[in-house]
Amino acid sequence: MNERYSRQELFAPIGEEGQKKIRQKHVLIIGAGALGTGSAEALVRAGVGKVTIVDRDYVEWSNLQRQQLYSEADAKERLPKAVAAKRRLQEVNSDVEIDAIVGDVTAQELEELITTRTPDLLMDATDNFDTRMLINDAAYKYRIPWIYGACVGSYGISYAFIPGKTPCFHCLLDTVPTGGLTCDTAGIISPAVQMVVSYQVTEALKILVEDWAALRNKLVSFDLWKNQHTAIRIDSVKKEDCPTCGSKPSYPFLSYEQQTKTAVLCGRNSVQIRPAVKRNYDLQELADLFAKQGLAVHVNPYLVSVSLGNERLVIFSDGRALIHGTKDIQEAKSIYYRYLG
Ligand SMILES: [Zn+2]
Repeated sequence: MNERYSRQELFAPIGEEGQKKIRQKHVLIIGAGALGTGSAEALVRAGVGKVTIVDRDYVEWSNLQRQQLYSEADAKERLPKAVAAKRRLQEVNSDVEIDAIVGDVTAQELEELITTRTPDLLMDATDNFDTRMLINDAAYKYRIPWIYGACVGSYGISYAFIPGKTPCFHCLLDTVPTGGLTCDTAGIISPAVQMVVSYQVTEALKILVEDWAALRNKLVSFDLWKNQHTAIRIDSVKKEDCPTCGSKPSYPFLSYEQQTKTAVLCGRNSVQIRPAVKRNYDLQELADLFAKQGLAVHVNPYLVSVSLGNERLVIFSDGRALIHGTKDIQEAKSIYYRYLG
């Protein structure tokens, strides 16, 4: 017999029955940065049946300090994070089905992911507020639990949102300080990541084995450097007229108007541009075209990266691009249209 999960099965609240349940479940992880790689590795080692992981970015050297699935080779190749994560996760546990998606999570894409792949649980591993609002709306609309996690510096915060039971992220906004969790803040230490991952994955395991009574039901936050730790009940912040979890929900963040086509990326001095209509580039052809113009080009099967002096333009085959070296959306757009028409 395979001893792989024996220690987890010896843990009474999981047991052999719990292990079977874990095996039948599908977790959608949104983001493959620090929190996403941590959650993904833990869940894959725990033997979850299927993991879908989606991310729009590629591996860079500055990720290696805390994004545990990635290696120097991934950074050198500028592999998309979802691709590099899948490769490593499959080495860790070949029994788990891993679905890696390189792309942006918009309202349309998230709803498509949920309705076609029917995950049992959503893990928040994003670095931005807009995507969390999207996850929150989608989770409540399709009644799937989602586990919030965020960290910056030595600070972290987490909560398990359960549609029909707990208030939602929208309800929290006026009450709970989410300051310090925005893009402007730069640094982070890896133990803060690991702590949030621990909180997220523990609640995830409880949900996967359906041990609802064991859920923490508290918003937990900590600052490891300042030796602070708090856990508060937030049931009372639930709003009857909340547009996401109230009696007449409209799920505002899933509506088309809320979708942004351009976005300044968190703490990255970078802008992302998505063309209104998806393109279908032959990346090698595109790379050759840039090379002919005398530009320094790097190409792999997923993206083309072009150096433009102070800026760098990275293009994916569907036309989505990251422009590094600027936070100015207009400037980024003019670069995009100058080189891609
Ligand atoms: Zn709400």
